[in-house]
Amino acid sequence: MRVLIAGAAGFIGSHLCDRLLGEGHEVVAVDNFLTGSPRNLAHLKGHPRFTLIRHDIIEPLDAADPLDVIFHLASPASPKDYLEHPIETLRAGAEGSRNLLELALRKGARFLLASTSECYGDPQEHPQRETYWGHVNPVGLRSCYDESKRYAEALTMAYHRRHGLHTHIARIFNTYGPRMQHDDGRIVPNFIRQALRGEPLTVYGDGSQTRSFCFVDDLVDGLVRLSRSQEHWPVNLGNPEEMTVLEFARRIRALAGSRSDIVFEPLPEDDPQRRRPDISKARAVIGWSPHIGVEEGLTRTIEWFRKELGIPGA
Ligand code: NAD
Ligand code: UDP
Repeated sequence: MRVLIAGAAGFIGSHLCDRLLGEGHEVVAVDNFLTGSPRNLAHLKGHPRFTLIRHDIIEPLDAADPLDVIFHLASPASPKDYLEHPIETLRAGAEGSRNLLELALRKGARFLLASTSECYGDPQEHPQRETYWGHVNPVGLRSCYDESKRYAEALTMAYHRRHGLHTHIARIFNTYGPRMQHDDGRIVPNFIRQALRGEPLTVYGDGSQTRSFCFVDDLVDGLVRLSRSQEHWPVNLGNPEEMTVLEFARRIRALAGSRSDIVFEPLPEDDPQRRRPDISKARAVIGWSPHIGVEEGLTRTIEWFRKELGIPGA
C-alpha cells in the first residue's frame, strides 16, 4: 500500500511511519514541523520506501502517485502547544481536514482522522463511551483544540455521508512513549524530565484529577487496525488503566529512582477532572486492546528520556 501520514514528524506519527514501513508499505510523510521535528524521522532518511514532504496542510496538497490510505495526525496536541498556536490548531482541524479529505476523494483513498478524548471535554459520563456527546466549553482556552477536533469529526462524517468516502475516526486518549518532546508541557515528559534531573515534580491542582495512559506502540496498532476496518463511527483508543495525577507522579518518581519533591501548582482552566476510555467498541469491532501496562511503558519511556537528556543510568 501507499500511505500518506500528515503529522508524520510528530510523536505518534513517527511511530506510525515505523510500523507501516516495517510491514513493507510505502510511506509519504507530510509535516510543517510546527510541533514535530525532522529528528523523529532522521533514522528513515534514505529509506527506499519513505518520502518526507515539508507542507502545511492548511494549503491544498496534491500527490502525483496513487494513495491507498491517508492518516490525518497533523495538529498541535499538547495543551502548551495548542494554547501557543490556537489559530493554527483550528485551521489544522478545519482547512487541514478538508484538504486531506479532498485528496482522499481524488485518490479513492481511505481516510483516518486522529481525533481525541477532548471531544468529551470535562466528561459527565464515566468511563466515556463513543455515544457520549461531551461536555465542552466552546469558548474556553482549550476550545481551539476541542472544537477543531469536533469540527473535523463532523466534516469527516459529512464526506462519508455525502461522497461515500471510506473514513475512520479514532478518539485517542492520553498516549505516551519515546519521541515526545521533553518540553511539550504534557504530564509524561514533564514528570520524567523533572524526576531524572532531581527537580520537583509539578502536580497541577491537588492531583486528584485522573487520566488513563496508553503506550504508543499499542495506540499505533489500534490506528492501523481501525484503518483496515469497516467502522465509520468514532472508536475510542486508549488504555483504561486510570489513575490520579498525584499517583502517577509517585509512580514515575519511583520508576526513575528519583528523590525529587512533589510540588503543587494551579490547575489550568477547564482541566478535565476524570478521563477513562470505555474500549468495548474497539475490542468488538477491531479486536483491539492494549497490552503494555503503565509500568513497562513508563520504564521504556524513562530509558529513552535518560539517553535523550544525556543523564547517566542510576
Ligand atoms: P505532535 O505535536 O507530536 O505531532 C503533531 C504533528 O503534526 C507535528 O509533527 C506537527 O509539526 C504536525 N503539524 C501540526 N500542524 C500541521 C500542519 N498545519 N501541517 C502539517 N503538519 C502539521 O502530537 P502527537 O501527540 O503525535 O499527536 C498526533 C495526533 O494525535 C494529533 O492530531 C493529536 O491531536 C492526536 N492525539 C494525540 C494524543 C496524545 O496523547 N498524544 C491524544 C489525543 C489525540
Ligand atoms: N499535569 C500536571 N503537571 C504537569 C503537566 C500536567 O499535573 O507538569 C496534569 C494536567 O493538569 C492534567 C494531566 O496532568 O490534569 C494531563 O495533562 P496533559 O497536559 O498531559 O494532557 P491533557 O490530558 O490535559 O490533555
